Amino acid sequence: MYIFFWAFSLFFQACQGSDPSSEASGVPLKVAAPVASDTMAATLVAGAAASAAAVTVPDADSDYLLGKFDPATHPDFVKVGKPYTDRAGMMLRKESFEAFKKMWAAAQKDKVVLKIISSTRSFGQQKNIWEAKWERFAKDAPLPKNRALKILEFSSMPGSSRHHWGSDIDLNDLNNAAFETGGKYQKVYAWLNEHAHEYGFCQPYTAGRPNGYHEEKWHWSYTPLSKPLLDEYQKTITASDIKGFKGAELAAEIGIIQHYVGGINQQCK
Ligand SMILES: [Zn+2]
Repeated sequence: MYIFFWAFSLFFQACQGSDPSSEASGVPLKVAAPVASDTMAATLVAGAAASAAAVTVPDADSDYLLGKFDPATHPDFVKVGKPYTDRAGMMLRKESFEAFKKMWAAAQKDKVVLKIISSTRSFGQQKNIWEAKWERFAKDAPLPKNRALKILEFSSMPGSSRHHWGSDIDLNDLNNAAFETGGKYQKVYAWLNEHAHEYGFCQPYTAGRPNGYHEEKWHWSYTPLSKPLLDEYQKTITASDIKGFKGAELAAEIGIIQHYVGGINQQCK
C-alpha cells in the first residue's frame, strides 16, 4: 500500500494551460523521507502556507499504474453519472470525482457546462483503441515505427495512459478547434484556464512542449493524485513493462516513458 500525504496550496496548483507566464511555477516541491517502515510515503510540501490533506493510493503497484485492474471492482473508484456525464460506464477515483463535482458546480454558476466524455480506461480498453488505429493507419503508415508515431499524436500505448490512473478526464469534445475562438466550447476552455487550478486540475498536454502528444485542450488531470502517480510510474515502470499489444516492441525505441509519459506540461508535474 502506498500512502501519499499530500500538502499543497491552491496558489501552487495554479495551472494556466498553455500560458507559460503563469505565476504558478515558482514554488519548489520537496519530497520528504518515508514516515513508516511498512509504508512508502511521500510528503509533498508546497510552501509554509500549504494546507494538508491525505490522499491514499492503495494498490498503486505496477498493475495499477499500467491499468491492469478493474475500476468497477476497485474500492476507491466510483461511478460517474448524470449530470456530470451522459455516457455509461464512466468511473473515477473518488478523490478526483469529489474535486470534479466542486469544479462542475462552480462552472455551472458561471453558465459553463462541463461534461466528462472519457475517464478511467483499463489496459484492455486502451489496447482496443490502440489496435483499432494500428489497423486503420496500416495503409498510410506501413512502417511500424511511423504508424506508432502517428497513433501517438493523440493516443497512448496501452500501459502508458494517464487515463489508467483514475485521475484524468476528457471534457466536452475531442477536437481542439471546438475550444478555440468561434468554437462551441470556447467559453468552456476559457473558464478552465482561469479556474481549473482552483480545484486541483491541470492541462497536461499543452501547446509548445518539446515532446509527447499533441495539444489536447480537453484532457485535464487531478494533480493531487496524478502527480504522485506519475512520480511512482517513473520510478517503477520501464519500457519492458509496456507489452501485450501490436507494436509494443517499439516502446523503448520511441521513448514512451521519457517522451510521452514524462512529456507533459511542467506545471502538472
Ligand atoms: Zn484524455
